[in-house]
Amino acid sequence: MAQKNEMMVCRNCADMTMHISNPPNNLVHGIITFLCVGAWFPIWMILLAIQKNPQCTKCGRISENNPTSKSFGKFVLITVAVLFLLGIGMCSSILSHSH
Ligand SMILES: [Zn+2]
Repeated sequence: MAQKNEMMVCRNCADMTMHISNPPNNLVHGIITFLCVGAWFPIWMILLAIQKNPQCTKCGRISENNPTSKSFGKFVLITVAVLFLLGIGMCSSILSHSH
């Protein structure tokens, strides 16, 4: 797993600390997008957009840079669920056609 490290101000530590984040595995998503003939692409983009906020390595606190991220995250989760079902539907219809 490719971890991203960056120095950020932690509100809990009240100091500049090392934060780690786990960006989505772009190779895996690229393969899925290819297999689904691009149907996975919007989901991949949303996963990139909603990736977990960086976590403080000192106290373990997840940084909340964006106060609106929680309600936005809910909205995105619903969108992801809908797109996910659409993606599965498209994938299965493509697979059934190739039979
Ligand atoms: Zn901290």
